[in-house]
Amino acid sequence: MSIRVENLSHTYNPGTPFERCAIDDVTFEINDGEFVAIVGETGSGKSTLIQHFNGLLKPTKGRIFVDEVDIWGKGVGLKSIRQKVGLVFQYPEHQLFEETVFKDIAFGPRNIGIPDDEVESRVQEAMKMVGLDYKELRDRSPFELSGGEKRRVAMAGVIAMKPSVIVLDEPASGLDPRGRDTILAEIRELHEKFGFTVVLVSHSMEDVAKLARRVVVLHKARLIADGPTKDVFSNEDILRRAGLEVPQVTRLMHELKRRNMDVRTDILTVEEAKHEIIRVLKGGDSGVS
Ligand code: ADP
Ligand code: MG
Repeated sequence: MSIRVENLSHTYNPGTPFERCAIDDVTFEINDGEFVAIVGETGSGKSTLIQHFNGLLKPTKGRIFVDEVDIWGKGVGLKSIRQKVGLVFQYPEHQLFEETVFKDIAFGPRNIGIPDDEVESRVQEAMKMVGLDYKELRDRSPFELSGGEKRRVAMAGVIAMKPSVIVLDEPASGLDPRGRDTILAEIRELHEKFGFTVVLVSHSMEDVAKLARRVVVLHKARLIADGPTKDVFSNEDILRRAGLEVPQVTRLMHELKRRNMDVRTDILTVEEAKHEIIRVLKGGDSGVS
């Protein structure tokens, strides 16, 4: 499953005083099996961009291909596109509305005519994938759950549609630290254990460094960088332009370097930093990563 964005532009309220170009001539591709992060400041166009992936927004210019099919081409059913590309909105818990967790997660599959027994097994499986106990929670009201649990119910609702790609818009925002960690661990599992292609929109460079292998940077509606996480995060120029902070641990390595410790600076996690600092303290050879 691939998503290709070709010269995409999106203007809100064209021809009115509120006209706003939110995406300006963006081209890139997401390939099967990737874990890609989309980053950028508030207002840079991230949410607008991802809502084109499954046809929620229509391009003002340009085209979107899902598995090489132009999704706005003649005779293409957006319903099937929306099933392949699952979108978890920012604050998705605001879209929970059924009286039980089961009914909420089952809503999408039922809506596309999946038979009852399969709906049940899908709900069970989806809840397991996001770490929710089926027996304990199925008959509970989603409104009684914790913030993190509500969000995982919403994610399960998307997973129950059996998409190939899961797109998550700021999935950890507004949660307490423990809720964040749990959600991020679940997302990592969705990719590593269950094989979903994942697109993660985030403004936390710490989270992105831990999870994504590739980063796409938006700045004022334009794509200004696209590459392996290490490369993008070691490009201070790009980061400064995009108003992004590198992870603390990466900053620490830059600081050590400035103080004449001969460490590598393309370090993204505490674990890597630990190894690198120990290596240097032991007077080791330059590390092969
Ligand atoms: P991000 O997700 O990176 O914060 P958005 O895609 O939400 O960025 O917004 C990009 C720009 O488009 C912003 O200037 C925002 O104000 C504007 N915008 C977003 N949604 C709408 C809308 N529905 N109508 C008009 N302008 C919008
Ligand atoms: Mg947004």
